[in-house]
Amino acid sequence: MIENIPNPGLLCNSGIEQLNFSWQIVIDTLKLLKSAQDQGELYDWQIDEFWRSSRRNLLSAYAQVFQGVELIIKGKIAEVSPYILIDNLVEKTKGCANPEKNPKGKKVSIDFSEFKTIQESELLNVYMGVSDCVLEQSFIERYEKMRKMRNKIMHLEIQGFETPDKLKELANEIIENILCMFNTLMPNKKWMDCRATSISGSPSEMLYMLDSNVSPHFDLCEEFKILIDTLPPKLVKEFFGFNKKNRLYCCPKCLVKSDAGACDFVDLKFAYLTSKEPGETKLTCPLCGNTVEVFRMSCSDRECKGSVCYDGYCLTCLEGYFKL
Ligand SMILES: [Zn+2]
Ligand SMILES: [Zn+2]
Repeated sequence: MIENIPNPGLLCNSGIEQLNFSWQIVIDTLKLLKSAQDQGELYDWQIDEFWRSSRRNLLSAYAQVFQGVELIIKGKIAEVSPYILIDNLVEKTKGCANPEKNPKGKKVSIDFSEFKTIQESELLNVYMGVSDCVLEQSFIERYEKMRKMRNKIMHLEIQGFETPDKLKELANEIIENILCMFNTLMPNKKWMDCRATSISGSPSEMLYMLDSNVSPHFDLCEEFKILIDTLPPKLVKEFFGFNKKNRLYCCPKCLVKSDAGACDFVDLKFAYLTSKEPGETKLTCPLCGNTVEVFRMSCSDRECKGSVCYDGYCLTCLEGYFKL
């Protein structure tokens, strides 16, 4: 018999962990640059050097996404049957029933890890062949591109990705690959929920717990804002369903959940009115998914052009949020 058969759920979770790992590398890169820029103006050459020195991290992150995807697909195949993952069953079990090799007809036990599992180039064929999943051509092409590039990164000295522009594109591509792969393979889960779980269990969060001013949700909001600012409008629309050129507001629910100083939160605007109708009062947050009823009136701060309020405060500048 085969022992230590992989658990489909654990395989998928390990895959998601790998995606989180890559995602974190990209987000940390973007955060680092942003915080340096917030502290003072950087020279162009400094920013260029910053991107060049992030090259290795980003290439590793790219490769890691593929490893994660591979594990998730293996988990999906294992949901049908983990035995399908075995590539050399006949070869490995040869002789089990042969009186010469197993004269007493003893019970055979083989550890799952001793088998060869199917190659990553065959994973999609097998997955589509044994399940009822439908994969779009664009997904299959993306998977193949990622697979080939992962092999180059791991086994060869990869050429290209030397210029800052190419490296910025690479960072975006990692994000896009993660979102695209995750949304297709895990249609019942939301990526930002996985991020919330990953952030609240991260080592840095364990240290921040000592500092009661920072909540994991605040970090999640910060990350989401950086993401929205970085991704091209087309991808923000595709993955998060809104036009980033629209006027954006603070989300009252995220504000409460973040338990953050409101002043910090002024920068974290990503909620939007559900239509362009004048007087629209429904505000949706792409991060927490809540839709709230807002009140339309001009902000009492004359400098602020906001006209979307909630519970007596302005969702553009947070004027009125601090009540004495
Ligand atoms: Zn929210
Ligand atoms: Zn205001």
